[in-house]
Amino acid sequence: MTGITIENLSTGYDKADVLLDLSLTVKPGTITCLLGSNGAGKTTVIRSILGLTPPRRGTIRLGDTDITGMATHKVIAQGLACIPEGRRMFPKLTVEENLRLGAYQVSDEALIRARMETVFETFPRLAERRDQLAGTMSGGEQAMVSIGRGLMSGPKILLIDEPSLGLSPLYVKENFKIIDGIRDQGVTVFLVEQNVRQTLGIADYGYVLSGGRLIAEGTAEALKASPEVHAAYFG
Ligand code: ATP
Repeated sequence: MTGITIENLSTGYDKADVLLDLSLTVKPGTITCLLGSNGAGKTTVIRSILGLTPPRRGTIRLGDTDITGMATHKVIAQGLACIPEGRRMFPKLTVEENLRLGAYQVSDEALIRARMETVFETFPRLAERRDQLAGTMSGGEQAMVSIGRGLMSGPKILLIDEPSLGLSPLYVKENFKIIDGIRDQGVTVFLVEQNVRQTLGIADYGYVLSGGRLIAEGTAEALKASPEVHAAYFG
């Protein structure tokens, strides 16, 4: 199992500084979350890990490998998969075709089939609808396609950006339960979210980002009880 170590990361866009001296650790085999409201800089952390917005200062490591500023395809080749915000999938392709695209780096057909069966076991609803066009499914089911596609690459680490966005409470609950199960299969999960209550329900450890700086960190239990988190999110 592999984790992520970020040390003293600062970065931004053009002249704007977005992340300021951020250090965090995603321990192997955990669900570690990054909480923060709109515009706090959460997606920028994911973009930095992926090499899309390279750090201006600081370092990022996957396990023992320094990936600071590494090209995106090389980062992905280290065993990292990202499920971006907004449930991106190909609406005119079937569920099965969407899933196959997640394994585009795999040429072994038996391995692709085995991974697809695992995804279908994780999401029985996708198995029932494997021939359906993904664009005709509900938002919650499209989120499942998006997570399933991420799993098809057989990642060691999964980055998930706001999976609850725009989903009904029922689907949020169902999909978070699935993310919980993905950690139990030995995949390290870095979960970026605004939905504090549900996220702390499944996370092991968490960080709170505000204005590009970390303002709190701790175990999920500690963060649930933290006065700062309560003041900022639970009102
Ligand atoms: P959200 O929940 O809205 O996705 P976030 O916490 O993920 O928010 P980021 O998307 O990382 O926040 O954005 C942090 C800041 O960086 C915001 O002020 C945003 O306007 C700015 N920003 C994000 N992407 C870019 C970009 N490509 N170019 C310039 N500024 C950007």
